[in-house]
Amino acid sequence: MAGWQEGNHPAIAVSVRPTTARIDLRALQTNYRHIVESLAQEQPAHPPGVIAVVKANGYGHGAGQVGRALEDAGADLLACADIEEGAALRAAGVRAAILVFGALGVSDLDGLFDCRLTPTISTPGAARAVQAVADRYRQRLRYHLKIDTGMNRLGFRFDNLHRTLPEVFSSGKLQLEAVYTHFATAEDPGSALFARQQDRFARALSQVEELHRGSASALPDGTRPYRHAANSAAFLRDSRVWFDRVRPGLLLYGVVPPPLHTTIEFEPVMTLVSKVVAVKGLRPGEVTGYGARYTAAAATTIAVVPAGYADGLDVRLSARGSVLIRGRRAPIVGSVCMDMLMADVTGLEVSPGDEVVLIGSQGDDRIDVREMAASIGTIPWEVVCRVGSRIERVYSGR
Ligand SMILES: *Cc1c(COP(=O)(O)O)cnc(C)c1O
Repeated sequence: MAGWQEGNHPAIAVSVRPTTARIDLRALQTNYRHIVESLAQEQPAHPPGVIAVVKANGYGHGAGQVGRALEDAGADLLACADIEEGAALRAAGVRAAILVFGALGVSDLDGLFDCRLTPTISTPGAARAVQAVADRYRQRLRYHLKIDTGMNRLGFRFDNLHRTLPEVFSSGKLQLEAVYTHFATAEDPGSALFARQQDRFARALSQVEELHRGSASALPDGTRPYRHAANSAAFLRDSRVWFDRVRPGLLLYGVVPPPLHTTIEFEPVMTLVSKVVAVKGLRPGEVTGYGARYTAAAATTIAVVPAGYADGLDVRLSARGSVLIRGRRAPIVGSVCMDMLMADVTGLEVSPGDEVVLIGSQGDDRIDVREMAASIGTIPWEVVCRVGSRIERVYSGR
């Protein structure tokens, strides 16, 4: 191109890959408000609060934008997985309180103070490490205490608190703000563990209260620690586990944890779109893609879509998933490649440049995250979190 110079290529500067994730922040805020409203409707005297979960880059939607939109909608407490995610939220301008769910390493805890984060203490070792940093900063730190009631991942074992907690509560630097647990099977109506975890949590709460009362870590104004337990599924299933706050993640993004259903109209937040880059005819007996996994039985038209497993589209979508083109379902054929996939568009009038919907609606049809997850035998949480980092998130509604 005449006149092209290094550093002078506006066409590249404004170009956007054809595969993008459209993020509807208004839908996110609506979902948040639906949760707040149903809490207030059911428990009008003391409506529980919300801890809006934005870990894993806001479930793949972009933590900074998601965090600020939730804050605008009224969220006063967000939660993320680790200190690094908390720092990223602060860097994006989030001012609400931030709870860190994950286990704390023994080093690099300065971020708790530098970024005003609230840690979860789930082991005696973490309590000691956090206390050491608090001593160094000469500051008190509020924390949430995690009780393991049967998931057997993080948290103090429910059956042994009288031995583990006194040491944690002996520090004047660490102030207990809340106590929580996490359910392993909240979305499974057939599981007995959900009820068992509830019983164990109830017992743990009274034990914590007994051990904590009058200890060095009691809050100065005598406020009792508050309680929380419910992820999205537990929020939908049982208002008895709402306690003082609920902790929805997936629901905020408009996806109901399978197999549950709800009458609340959650709106999908992410739409994953692309464009056809090439259209090709196959003769009977010809194949497409690596491994020659697909053979055309008859004359077939294939659309090439520039989205592949590097974008988070699972290789198992081959022969199982579909995309929407021209308002119709086009089955994914052949192996999903790193940067591309092929769809059978035989009989459709398809041209390069046509919109392809991978997740979302087109015409009267829709492919949602639950459907995609079910078709490849995974869970919706994984589908949204895996949407690749090279896919641009395009935001609307804020
Ligand atoms: C991820 C997470 C949640 C939110 O779970 P969803 O099923 O997405 O609602 C709640 N609490 C904890 C501790 C979590 O790690």
